Amino acid sequence: MSTPSSTGSLTLVATPIGNLGDIPPRALEALRQADCIACEDTRVSGKLLAKIGIETKPELLSYRNENEITLAEPLADRIASGQQIVLVADAGTPAISDPGFRLVRACRLRGLPVTAVPGPCAAITALALSGLPSDGFLFVGFLPPKRAARIRFFNEYQDFGYTLVIYESCHRIGKCLDDIVETLGADRAISVSRELTKLHETIQSGSAGEVRERVAKASQKGEFVIVIAKAGYVL
Ligand code: SAM
Repeated sequence: MSTPSSTGSLTLVATPIGNLGDIPPRALEALRQADCIACEDTRVSGKLLAKIGIETKPELLSYRNENEITLAEPLADRIASGQQIVLVADAGTPAISDPGFRLVRACRLRGLPVTAVPGPCAAITALALSGLPSDGFLFVGFLPPKRAARIRFFNEYQDFGYTLVIYESCHRIGKCLDDIVETLGADRAISVSRELTKLHETIQSGSAGEVRERVAKASQKGEFVIVIAKAGYVL
């Protein structure tokens, strides 16, 4: 716990995307020393803390899409008054398709210290495992749920010169792969990562047409990342 004279800070701590072994010592230390852990779902983070053996119970504050704007300044006030605030997401790196950048911005604008304990991120793990060019890429996060908007996106980016990395839910993975084949063509090189670092981790790489068939035949439960090579890239 901080004393009133100590300097407060915000620390972004990445947490496992599946495998609990993926939590480094520095993350444990930051979580142990926090005055408050801002997390999305307090039940999810509470369970994680119990599993990794953090017995002293820091305050858990629900910081999620719905309140990330209203809580950014009050959290920055707490840091200014000397508290150690840790930000985590339900899984992976906070602020990456998860709440966080507004709190970081609030601290930066006030000159408050912000640091990170880097670690798992599904986008980077999928890109590294894809076997597709990883020297330059665009991370898009989640595409719009409506088909027309997804098709517009793929049409707009069909000649983009770098790899694309997309998060997709299990409910839309099949439809999204249909849209990729329709707009970018069955020959486009892609990779689909499912359940990274978990028991049923599967990575399918190949032409969009082949990968779509393989994904359709396999279980579509779990979490997915799609990686798409630039046009003309031959596997
Ligand atoms: N902040 C997280 C990160 O650093 O990866 C991402 C959070 S975002 C709300 C959740 C999405 O990330 C999922 O829908 C899925 O697309 C992707 N994801 C998270 N964990 C994953 C995993 N173990 N395997 C594959 N994709 C995963």
